[in-house]
Amino acid sequence: MAKAQVTRVAQHGIPAGVKLTPMMQQYVAAKARYPDALLFFRMGDFYEMFFEDAEMGGQHLDLTVTSRDKKSSVPAPMSGFPHHQLGAYLAKALAAGLKVAVCDQLADPTEVKGIVPRGVTRVVTPGVILDAESLEARANNYLVSIAASGEAFAVAALDVSTGEFRVTEVIGASALRCELSRLEPRELVLPPDSGAIEAAAKGRLGRITMSRPGAAFFDVAQARVTLLPLMGPDGGPAADAVETFGFGNPDLALCAAGAAAGYVADTQRGLPSNTRLLTPYRVGATLVLDETAKINLELFRTLLEGRKKGALLGTLDRAATSMGGRRLRQWLAFPLMDPAEIHARQEAVAWGVEHSDGRADVRRLLREMYDLERLNARVAAGRAGPRDLWFLKVTLEQVPGLVERLNGVEAVAPIIARIDPLSDVCALLGAALVDDPPGQVRDGGVIRPGYNADLDELVDIATNGKDWILKLEATERQRTGIGSLKVRFNRVFGYYIEISRANLNNVPPEYVRKQTLANSERYFTSELKDFEDKVLNAQSRRSSIEADLFTALRDAIAEHAARIAETASALADLDALSALAELAHAHGYCRPIVDDGDVIDIEDGRHPVVEDAVGREAFVPNSVRLDRREQSLIVLTGPNMAGKSTVMRQVALIVLLAQMGGFVPAKSARIGVVDRIFTRVGAADDLAAGRSTFMVEMHETATILKEATPRSLLILDEIGRGTSTYDGVSIAWAVAEYIHDVLGAKALFATHYHELTEMARIKPRVANFTIAVKEWDDEVIFLRQLIEGGANRSYGIQVARLAGLPTAVVDRAKAVLGSLQGAELSGQSRVINEAEAVALPEQGLQLSLFAPPPLPAAPSKVEQTLRAADLDHLTPIQALNFLHALREQLSS
Ligand code: ADP
Repeated sequence: MAKAQVTRVAQHGIPAGVKLTPMMQQYVAAKARYPDALLFFRMGDFYEMFFEDAEMGGQHLDLTVTSRDKKSSVPAPMSGFPHHQLGAYLAKALAAGLKVAVCDQLADPTEVKGIVPRGVTRVVTPGVILDAESLEARANNYLVSIAASGEAFAVAALDVSTGEFRVTEVIGASALRCELSRLEPRELVLPPDSGAIEAAAKGRLGRITMSRPGAAFFDVAQARVTLLPLMGPDGGPAADAVETFGFGNPDLALCAAGAAAGYVADTQRGLPSNTRLLTPYRVGATLVLDETAKINLELFRTLLEGRKKGALLGTLDRAATSMGGRRLRQWLAFPLMDPAEIHARQEAVAWGVEHSDGRADVRRLLREMYDLERLNARVAAGRAGPRDLWFLKVTLEQVPGLVERLNGVEAVAPIIARIDPLSDVCALLGAALVDDPPGQVRDGGVIRPGYNADLDELVDIATNGKDWILKLEATERQRTGIGSLKVRFNRVFGYYIEISRANLNNVPPEYVRKQTLANSERYFTSELKDFEDKVLNAQSRRSSIEADLFTALRDAIAEHAARIAETASALADLDALSALAELAHAHGYCRPIVDDGDVIDIEDGRHPVVEDAVGREAFVPNSVRLDRREQSLIVLTGPNMAGKSTVMRQVALIVLLAQMGGFVPAKSARIGVVDRIFTRVGAADDLAAGRSTFMVEMHETATILKEATPRSLLILDEIGRGTSTYDGVSIAWAVAEYIHDVLGAKALFATHYHELTEMARIKPRVANFTIAVKEWDDEVIFLRQLIEGGANRSYGIQVARLAGLPTAVVDRAKAVLGSLQGAELSGQSRVINEAEAVALPEQGLQLSLFAPPPLPAAPSKVEQTLRAADLDHLTPIQALNFLHALREQLSS
């Protein structure tokens, strides 16, 4: 037996100089192999963690930390849980972003002398999960690896749970961040010297698990070997595709992809057979959305609560299956740019809209299906249970009906062509598996009778043993003429035939005596002995044969993983398209004309999510046109709450829906494809990153001005709000001017600075719009109607009253406003021309574009406050602050 060993250096939280028992030596060896994983170390009926890992268990898995050897001078902290709770604790660890290596006993402890051999049997990391409990059903779970060379980054994304595998190349830190934002990786695989990548991705790495498996994983020669099976038949086409795809640095792409595949192969003991061919893609072929746009437009989750309901995806996702839900999500993250591809999707959606019966049939069949992609992944990884295979079969059974239903529908013909009916796989499952099997193979009764003769016989013996004995008893009674002959069983002697003393002379010669009792003799025959052997072994042999048959079945299905994956992917497309058709039908969307032109022309557009919430009747549709020649920049003014941000977002969301290939909430729409949507909306402090609101705002604005192209769509809300009025209006003016004169991008520019409406007079492609409000009985009524023209006032006081300011204060504010406006009427002109816009007036603190109001010579404090305020241009916050100050002064 191995002797205790003294540790030489402190590691894994184990102090130097501690004596390690042989078992702890096993622990340390396993830990050394997987240093950055939590080690679940099997000891009897428990999984235990020690030292640093024990503390982690206490912190992240809510386990109590105890001490293994309280008497020892250096007690080992320890935490653990019963072995049958492994699944639950793996899920907890993954949710906390931790990696886990599961170290099991490799032999039955009762059968080995000395210490049980142990080894790591599974490594589970957040980027490589297959269990439904730890996966979000309607989102991909990407493992992303990045390789860098100068300004170029190769980004490879592999979703083990669906088999999808793709790679792209981006130039520059900002583009890298965009791509990470779209992929939302669960885990990053980085080269050892990843400083440049981390610096470039700053802010995007927050809670992502990071792994650095070593430089060898990023070796290009190794990558070619690892990727060979993913290069398609002849070991070539996809490899050529990566190399001839047009990447500036194809080797870099191979390195990143090779690292992702190598890492998965390392943790999964080989690359799972459902892994799809490596697909290179170009970032420029899709509409790019950065993190800011994604968040501000509430595409995937709401800004405040982070929920899907209330976000665009919540409204969109009417998919019948999780695979369809994931596909819609991908389409929303990667909207198309090629009008021909968009048109192809539209055709399919149009078929669905026009054929309600067909659409309903397709969706009914899809609803009968389970998540084929993820089932397939579990089969390929050897982790599928009997119910997984059953779900697989139930799903495959629907496929021929679906293909049949869509037979001859030209719009979906290319998708149908990708579907393999897989009738051989389905037949195999049907023949081998019982209907509705139990969850675990060890529960027994998984394999269908008739599939395997040996198993059938064992099952027969185990379940029909009694009948057999009764039959034997009857025949033997008849043959021997002994009416009292009994066939019985006991634990010590097994099966026997019992004959009472009175009948002993009728015992046939082939009976062999087994035991003598006072009143009877017990015998066995060779027939009974055979039966006994069979029965006694039947139960255990049945379990092991059934387990073997099940594993063989699963392996046989895994051989077809590539076919299943392709079919699943086609089904996901069909589901996503049917969901878009369902949405279009339910909400009366129209088919947009999408082209390469430079016009965005939306007639009676609606905001898909707000409309969903308030109802079609309550929503006021609005028309917006932007183009490059006549109207590229709309200055949008109007009071708070009027609907400015709704109408601006609505334009962005309609563009996105159109470029996903969907129909849009409008009477009609023409969309010239957009390459990027930028947003600058609201202001969230990024104090954690040490940036003030204004700094964030300017940073976002800078990004937009640097990166927007004439094909981009800009949604800008309240530029220049975070600073003083003078600075703010100057910046807003200059930014708008730059967009108009230099960038030529299409922009919707909402502002409280009414001065900007002057720009329409001097710039050819600027138009003023406002949202109509009506004043009635001194109330402001929001009409939600977008009309041409600029707002001439802010209705700050009315909105302040809506917010619940005391009536006395509101009344006083109105009186003050009245006197200020009276002064304005007799004041100066307020036209800003181009020259003046750069050199704004310099007197006073506020942007007082009118003469000072006639106030008494020695102003009171209240009056000073009033003078200092620019009531006509107050933002709601400023208005509230102002009124608050006023109230305080009035009351003092
Ligand atoms: P603003 O940006 O001008 O402050 P919002 O766009 O936030 O105003 O709109 C305020 C609220 O008005 C929205 O939450 C929405 O409920 C409602 N709203 C906006 N536009 C419309 C519309 N076209 N039809 C119906 N309700 C609308």
